[in-house]
Amino acid sequence: MTTNPFTHRHLLGIQGLSPSEIGFLLDLSNGYVDQNRRADKKQSTLRGRTLINLFFENSTRTRTSFELAGKRLGADVINMQVSTSSVTKGETLIDTAVTLNAMHLDALVVRHPDSGAVKLLSEKVNCAVINGGDGCHEHPTQALLDALTIRRRKGRLSGLTVAICGDVLHSRVARSNIHLLNIMGARVRVVAPKTLVPAGIERLGVEVFFDMRAGLADCDIVMMLRLQNERMSGNFIPSIREYFHFFGLDYAKLAQARPDALIMHPGPMNRGFEIDSDVADDVERSVIREQVEMGVAVRMAVLDILTRPDREAV
Ligand code: ASP
Repeated sequence: MTTNPFTHRHLLGIQGLSPSEIGFLLDLSNGYVDQNRRADKKQSTLRGRTLINLFFENSTRTRTSFELAGKRLGADVINMQVSTSSVTKGETLIDTAVTLNAMHLDALVVRHPDSGAVKLLSEKVNCAVINGGDGCHEHPTQALLDALTIRRRKGRLSGLTVAICGDVLHSRVARSNIHLLNIMGARVRVVAPKTLVPAGIERLGVEVFFDMRAGLADCDIVMMLRLQNERMSGNFIPSIREYFHFFGLDYAKLAQARPDALIMHPGPMNRGFEIDSDVADDVERSVIREQVEMGVAVRMAVLDILTRPDREAV
């Protein structure tokens, strides 16, 4: 059995993880993919453990897959509806965390609109905290599930050219992916209009393209991002029509990528905004549904690793 190199108490982001920690999580996730494809999907690894999903923002995939992941490992899972909780009565994030902590949780998955809120909360509780997306900062399990999808399809991450396209400015998915892909030795490009690229992004180790055809040239992976309207104050694009014309993924632009390039999208998709519907559903090239499947496996691996009693906390 391989020794577990993952010694962190929480999973707050990808930044700062090592290649061996990421590789270990991906290997563990791979095993859970097989388990999830069996008729009997249930295991008792987390029997007696309690997981709470605390989501201050909407979610379909992340919340459901953490719930499934916890249940498939045998944990008791509670989904806290923030809209019906005491948060609406003015309870602060910290007080909510301290209250939940008193209930002896083992893991807490948190999604919050503010960057850094999940880290703050992790300092107030005794259980493992998993970042389910904090503002524009990080969404670590999304990057892990994307990496697992790519690795299973391409056999590797190292040496691949990945184009991350669209609203990079507001995207925590982009940030976590940039960190992970760089750590694992891929070449990362970001492709977007100037208004949707954060200043100084090159410092994260990416090549920036303002032209979609040039950015997609010979890439192995095309990762599309949603326009995050809920995080925009003001106008970042002239119109949806123009945005789709220049930056929407259609077959004409995709023709610049390698013939075996994979199409990815974290969801939710806005068909006709950032991606053409036929491209999104292309069974030969699109792995968007596979990403969802990998999401459950990755979240099982993360819950497993963070609740192991032999884990040495750092
Ligand atoms: N679901 C992803 C997130 O929560 C991507 C998106 O919302 O566009 O960041």
